[in-house]
Amino acid sequence: MNATPISGTDVAKNIELGIKRKVDDLKYKYKAVPGLGVILVGDNPASKYYVATKEKVAARAGLLSFETLLSKDATFEEVAKVITEYNNDPKIHGILLQLPVPKHLDSDKLLDLIDPAKDADGLHPQNQGLLVTGKVGPRPCTPLGAMKLIDVAMMKQSKIGDAASANFLEGIDIANLPPVDLKGKRAVVVGRSILVGKPLALMLLERNATVTIAHSKTADLNGVCKEADILVAAVGVPELIGKDHVKPGAIVIDVGINRLDNGKLVGDVKYDEAAKVAGAITPVPGGVGPMTVIMLISNTVANFERNYERLS
Ligand code: NDP
Repeated sequence: MNATPISGTDVAKNIELGIKRKVDDLKYKYKAVPGLGVILVGDNPASKYYVATKEKVAARAGLLSFETLLSKDATFEEVAKVITEYNNDPKIHGILLQLPVPKHLDSDKLLDLIDPAKDADGLHPQNQGLLVTGKVGPRPCTPLGAMKLIDVAMMKQSKIGDAASANFLEGIDIANLPPVDLKGKRAVVVGRSILVGKPLALMLLERNATVTIAHSKTADLNGVCKEADILVAAVGVPELIGKDHVKPGAIVIDVGINRLDNGKLVGDVKYDEAAKVAGAITPVPGGVGPMTVIMLISNTVANFERNYERLS
């Protein structure tokens, strides 16, 4: 079997166009557009790159974006002051504190200060509670993006004739598709972090999948993974998942981003090997990464729509 590649770059582009159309409508209706406020502490090159990418996508989708750069020695109070300013700024509907912050700062305490209605990352404890209880609210971006890729893979699998079609996404508005019901599907998430594994498992459960979470203490990881119709790797171990972990025809979503010593970027899945067994698979780079960015923008627009009266 040769798996259908699921391009996060293409899906994110499709969603971006849908968001742009929505922002145009909001501008007409409210005479205002959603705004993203980004706070970057320090000069970590990867973080600077991520922030620049997020702002570029926000601008392309028609949002306003605001940025505060603080030195790597900034105190907790200095970062907190910016968060408070953003909380009180009616032009800002999504606040992103770029992680990781320098070690002397307590990121959990800083995230707690963000107005939950303006949380763009879905990481505020109150919003995590909304996810656990199945209520509406901003969801963590990476798992949200992974779920969209699962939706696309499921659609491709159900349209057997079109599965290989390069222009499959044309004419489909992914941003507004009803979520695919995963009843009867077995899903395995490898990784149990607050950022990815746990929220993703809850989202899969919300969609009626039967979910297993595997982690570093799991016995027989191969066997557990091999039961999965949907296998998600969110581990941070380069190419941990190989062909022996994959059930024939499974959807494989690779969240991992690992930089090897030779500079190469690889996921948690051995792509070439797994692609021979899987039914659909996401690449690294160009898989979940671009989806995380567009979901941040999507959360900001949803915050605007949900809370416009209160936040203005
Ligand atoms: P964490 O380090 O917080 O969590 C890793 C998880 O993997 C832990 O639950 C750990 O188990 C588990 N694990 C580690 N080694 C093994 C193993 N050998 N077998 C089974 N499970 C194992 O990482 P994150 O969740 O933050 O990130 C995971 C990956 O996703 C990273 O590569 C990261 O760079 C990437 N990432 C990508 C994003 C994107 O936009 N594409 C965004 C965020 C992250 P235990 O709990 O037992 O220690």
